[in-house]
Amino acid sequence: MQFYPLVVSQITDETSLAKSYTFRAEKKYQTELQYQAGQFLTLRLPWEDSFLDRCYSLSSSPDESEWTITVKRVEDGRISNYINDTLQVGDIVDIAPPSGRFIATQEEHAMCLFAAGSGITPIISIIKHTLHNSQRHIALFYANRNEKQTIFLQQLKELAHAHPDRFQCHFHYSADQGRVNENTINHFVHENIHQDFFICGPAPFMDLTENALLKLGVADKAIFVERFVSDTETKNDNVHAASDITSFKATLDGQVHTVPYLADKTLLESMLADGLKPAYFCQKAKCGMCMVKKTTGEVVMRNSDILSDNDIAHGRILLCQSLPLDDNIHVDCDND
Ligand SMILES: Cc1cc2nc3c(=O)[nH]c(=O)nc-3n(C[C@H](O)[C@H](O)[C@H](O)COP(=O)(O)OP(=O)(O)OC[C@H]3O[C@@H](n4cnc5c(N)ncnc54)[C@H](O)[C@@H]3O)c2cc1C
Repeated sequence: MQFYPLVVSQITDETSLAKSYTFRAEKKYQTELQYQAGQFLTLRLPWEDSFLDRCYSLSSSPDESEWTITVKRVEDGRISNYINDTLQVGDIVDIAPPSGRFIATQEEHAMCLFAAGSGITPIISIIKHTLHNSQRHIALFYANRNEKQTIFLQQLKELAHAHPDRFQCHFHYSADQGRVNENTINHFVHENIHQDFFICGPAPFMDLTENALLKLGVADKAIFVERFVSDTETKNDNVHAASDITSFKATLDGQVHTVPYLADKTLLESMLADGLKPAYFCQKAKCGMCMVKKTTGEVVMRNSDILSDNDIAHGRILLCQSLPLDDNIHVDCDND
């Protein structure tokens, strides 16, 4: 991953637990740093004798000239607190280019967005960009503990006020209305299941929402999710490929390739060594760029935290985490 030095140009208090950080980039880096609404940046920050990389979604939209992320403190979290306590205007931070697949489709039909807590960051980027560049209708369901902890409350109200016939914004406060449950989701979606659905928030909120949508009959392909997984979640280095695997099949750009399998390497590493170029980015099971559909065979993944039960049920795997368990593997990189 290549990193670029960006300068903190502005810091904005959003709530008592979250701040937005705006970065300025030198002109020579600006092409590499172009992004689509909903994507994230990877920040490399010093930690003890080394450094830690963390992903943060862009809360700005590509129509703005700078790059803004919004970081909410995580209890006992290292980098989220370091950023909130330490970063100052004028500081330089090493940042890898935008990445991620949580982006709006080119369709013109309506969008229904579900956010909870800091999960609003990629969602507000998508809202601003979509309102500015299309005629699409957007409905947002946004859950927080209370109004005080609602990031971008004022900005969202202003957007709803400016686009009354295209943007409907529903705030849910669990302190008053209780936790979001399946009925809350069903009630909000009503019968409007033929839309694009975007979900971002804590894992239980995302699982609940995704399952409720699937039960309502929303097509799996119309649901887009972004999981804010952290480095400390389960990574199992103690998994191994079956010993006698020599190759596997991969469909890429319409062609079926027989890829030599490199012992104890991932499917992604074997494909790259064979000169193939599937989409990938972080290689740490965070960005989801290398998610593909496995049509036959069995793999074991070192880390699959960003995949939902629904992804697993549909045979989706992360190339960067997968080791083969049999010699009948076929992955389809053109479909996920
Ligand atoms: C694609 C993506 C986009 C994201 N976008 C955003 C965003 O827009 N805004 C945002 O605020 N966050 C976002 N995140 C989350 C962010 O990347 C970090 O995961 C988050 O800020 C926590 O990092 P941290 O270093 O503070 O926490 P960590 O230090 O990684 O700790 C996380 C949790 O693990 C616990 N923990 C720490 N060390 C250990 C240990 N050794 N053993 C057991 N438990 C431990 C901590 O107590 C804490 O509860 C995003 C994540 C992804 C993957």
